[in-house]
Amino acid sequence: MLSLAVLATTHSMLVDYRIRQREYLLAISRALTAELDLGDVLRIIVQASVEFISARAGVIILADPTDKVFRVAAVYGLPRPQFDDLAPLLQGLSYSGHDIETAVMPALNEQMKRIAQAVDLPQLLRLPLMSGEMIIGLIYLFQTEEVRFSRDLANLLQSFADQAAIAVKNARLYQQVNAEKQRLDAILNQSADGVMILDARLEILVFNAALSRMVGWKTDEAIGRLHHEVIQWEQRRTEVDLEEALDNGWPPPGAAHLYVEGTALRPDGEMISLGITYAPLLSDHGRMTNIIANVRDLTRFREEEQLHKTFISVISHELKTPVSIIKGYAGTLRRHEANWPREVLDEYLAVIEEESDRLTDLIDNLLEASRLQSGAFKLEMGADIDLIKLATDSVRRFSSQTDHHRFEINFPPDFPLVIGDERRLIQVFNNLISNAIKYSPGGRYIRIWGEVEPQRVTISVSDEGIGIPEYEQRRIFQQFSRLDNALSRKTEGSGLGLFLTKAIVEAHGGRIWFTSNGPQPGTTFTFSLPR
Ligand code: ADP
Repeated sequence: MLSLAVLATTHSMLVDYRIRQREYLLAISRALTAELDLGDVLRIIVQASVEFISARAGVIILADPTDKVFRVAAVYGLPRPQFDDLAPLLQGLSYSGHDIETAVMPALNEQMKRIAQAVDLPQLLRLPLMSGEMIIGLIYLFQTEEVRFSRDLANLLQSFADQAAIAVKNARLYQQVNAEKQRLDAILNQSADGVMILDARLEILVFNAALSRMVGWKTDEAIGRLHHEVIQWEQRRTEVDLEEALDNGWPPPGAAHLYVEGTALRPDGEMISLGITYAPLLSDHGRMTNIIANVRDLTRFREEEQLHKTFISVISHELKTPVSIIKGYAGTLRRHEANWPREVLDEYLAVIEEESDRLTDLIDNLLEASRLQSGAFKLEMGADIDLIKLATDSVRRFSSQTDHHRFEINFPPDFPLVIGDERRLIQVFNNLISNAIKYSPGGRYIRIWGEVEPQRVTISVSDEGIGIPEYEQRRIFQQFSRLDNALSRKTEGSGLGLFLTKAIVEAHGGRIWFTSNGPQPGTTFTFSLPR
């Protein structure tokens, strides 16, 4: 058993054999430094070390830096299961100590000897693979007969082992860098924010999945393009874009970020609100090598902002109108010089009452909407709600406000009672019926009917009014959304009615939608409630 051959040579070795060995060593060193896959490197090392001394078989035992456990890493010339019994022994091998003769080592050598004898290769040689003071592995070589090693050959073998240790370290470093890159790629791709990396010429090098979804460019189509081909600003809220900033000398020394915000055009023609932060990456000499761009979709944020603005304008308009009417009528009535006849008093007071009701409704709606947003919207459920009665009451309430509409109410005789929040269901009927009146100034019939299905009941309200384009299906139920048509501009409304109606119906477990009344104008709103 040799740790490294230290016996002087007794039988002569041919000179050309030595030369061949040196050449062989050189060739292997080259191969080892070229190879970066750890598995391949280990295969080359074990095979080369066997051939190097004309041995028969070899095994490499290597410490895994992640858990610091030694394992059989490569075998040559013998079946691998031959070394299965080593595992428990290897567990105890010291990774960090520079003394290789730990308590375990003799036991390991013994075990190796047993294997060597079992396969009839009794001559055993051990080469440590060192990294500085640390043993990172061991190579065992098996030979048929006693061969004596010269000091020279021993040195050669050690330098071969040193090369091998370097190759293992390199391959591991490469593996680590690769794993790190994969991790970074994964982080980039999992990131909910859009990320792209540009080179100094503004060519896109990296383009993550979130950005691809955001701006509608496929990753592989965006990569290789110039920044301005993919980010096409339609309207900017900030002064300059990236290209202009670069022309103006961005980045300044100290490398400040650049923020650009605005509306950009997607390839599918849609507009999207983006906020992009550009961070320059500078070389040691201060030259910009890359730009990292963080892209955020601000569409929802802008929508919210818009909603806020609409809210303010709706509130100011819708609240002010009745208040100024009430103030006007009250002011007129208060004039001392006038002695108002009874009919005028009645008429004026009725207007004040009506406008006060409208104000109350609007304030109620606003409160409901804010409850809905804060999650404080709760139904007060009651049993045995008679939807036919609710429909009839609502029609009675509104029919006084119109003289040219005709109402038809149609429910099958077996129409069931339902469970629900009566006050809110009244609101649903009121909203749908008042809309049917409001948006059908030229229409005549307003029909309300019910249908019974096995799982649910549906109620429809149809008018012969101006109609709603089918594509407004989603928008119409959003808060403050009013369609931009002549009638909406003329009639009063907050755009809260359908928003609340939908919320109420859905809170009951139902659904609401509308259909256009075929070729003739008009709309049918239908909602369902579970039975
Ligand atoms: P409001 O009536 O207060 O504006 P709603 O939420 O009830 O708000 O309705 C939103 C918009 O939907 C209305 O502004 C109107 O443009 C449209 N709309 C609602 N009901 C009808 C209908 N029956 N026919 C035509 N358009 C309607």
